[in-house]
Amino acid sequence: MTHITDLPVNDAGNGWTNILAPRVARPSLSGDVTCDWLVIGAGFAGLAAARRLSENNPEHRVVIVDACRVGDGASARNSGFVIDLPHNVGTDLDNLDMQRRSLRLARAAVKQLENTVQTNAIDCQWSHRGQYMAAASDKGEAVLDGFSAGLDALGEPYQEVSAHDLKSAIGTGYYRRAIFTPGTILMQPAALVRGVADALPETVELYENTPVTGSQFGSPHQFATPAGAIRARQVLLAVNGFAPAFNILKGRIFSLQLLASMTRALSQGELAELGCKPDWGVVPALPFGGPTMRLTQDRRLVMRSVFSYRHSRRVSADQYQKAKTLQAQQIQARFAALPKGIIEHTWAGSITLSQNFAPGFGKQADGVYSAVCQNGVGVTKGTISGILAADMASRRDNPLIADMEALGVPNRLPPRPFLDLGIAAKLKWWVHGSRVDG
Ligand SMILES: Cc1cc2nc3c(=O)[nH]c(=O)nc-3n(C[C@H](O)[C@H](O)[C@H](O)COP(=O)(O)OP(=O)(O)OC[C@H]3O[C@@H](n4cnc5c(N)ncnc54)[C@H](O)[C@@H]3O)c2cc1C
Repeated sequence: MTHITDLPVNDAGNGWTNILAPRVARPSLSGDVTCDWLVIGAGFAGLAAARRLSENNPEHRVVIVDACRVGDGASARNSGFVIDLPHNVGTDLDNLDMQRRSLRLARAAVKQLENTVQTNAIDCQWSHRGQYMAAASDKGEAVLDGFSAGLDALGEPYQEVSAHDLKSAIGTGYYRRAIFTPGTILMQPAALVRGVADALPETVELYENTPVTGSQFGSPHQFATPAGAIRARQVLLAVNGFAPAFNILKGRIFSLQLLASMTRALSQGELAELGCKPDWGVVPALPFGGPTMRLTQDRRLVMRSVFSYRHSRRVSADQYQKAKTLQAQQIQARFAALPKGIIEHTWAGSITLSQNFAPGFGKQADGVYSAVCQNGVGVTKGTISGILAADMASRRDNPLIADMEALGVPNRLPPRPFLDLGIAAKLKWWVHGSRVDG
């Protein structure tokens, strides 16, 4: 049996979770279990997969386990953008077919999530607000020009937004201009992922606080957890960046840590002074430039602006402090009328990438499927990859599987320590090149 020692460790600072009422976690696994399907990981990918497996195979026993509580992992730590457009619109006008496939996949995920939110009345600030991609420099404006050319080529709707109109929308004159795209949905990620877990069909057994600490693929597949063994006919890995610990996609995917901060709720007076819409979302034109920003429906600003790479995924106390200081400065630079010292929560979370931005999707061995490596857009990509991996494993025909497969498979990465040095250098280069926009 392969021992799994690379297990998730989450800090306790996640503002999205901390501002919600406490939730009673489902019990951890105690005793041995034999099941038809085991899903490992209960983020957006795993939850979507477990639901779909149960729909596809109503007579089968479907078990899903997570090392932590639902709402502890990256699915609850993100910026809450449910993004429909592929990240590379405008960078590759010769590859529109791939972008159309990505759009179809993302929109199918949005539809599924919206249906779950509506059917189960999940209270997660689900909001059809769209998003602004904003630029504060020549370099950023050049990215906007490419973005609008890409949207034109795809026939996707958007609006050019002047500095004046953007100030009316988001309350700051910091940016030169923006492009508004209407398809993005904004939400409270911890509330959404908890809601999706609580809405799982009763036939799905969810065990929280149940790390898989050993795995042996075979017939049946066998897994160890601290208080019980699991035997499963088929397994679907939805552990994102932890897949290599299971010897899946080893040397092909890697994780970056992102740091984010959330303020206290602004007063009605402070909000009136900003004079903006009741909620909005802004992404920077240069991805490593300024912050990704939200104003939430409960009047909090959320800033995400720091990337870090360490193979261990460890984030030092100094990095948290530096991120909080930077994000406080970024708030002041944009909203000078707000008082200082309003940040209440600072946290880190992981995104998992491949060098060629391909997903870690599909059949990995007999009875072993994966829905990992969401390349930073896991709300939609995680959801759809979970659904499609479940369909592929259940042999259910779904034309979207071809779209997903067309996105390719993760390239092999250079070995460590070259990988570590390469990522660190590239990150430095990107961040440096984007500084003008920040
Ligand atoms: C700060 C930040 C901002 C982001 N903003 C956005 C955004 O606005 N929009 C967007 O789409 N994406 C965003 N992302 C990315 C997004 O959060 C991720 O892509 C998404 O959460 C991935 O979902 P997932 O289900 O694949 O993986 P995860 O949510 O990481 O779930 C994997 C689960 O596997 C579990 N696990 C791992 N190992 C084991 C084991 N051995 N045993 C049992 N369980 C295990 C983990 O505990 C975890 O819960 C952001 C990420 C961060 C950190």
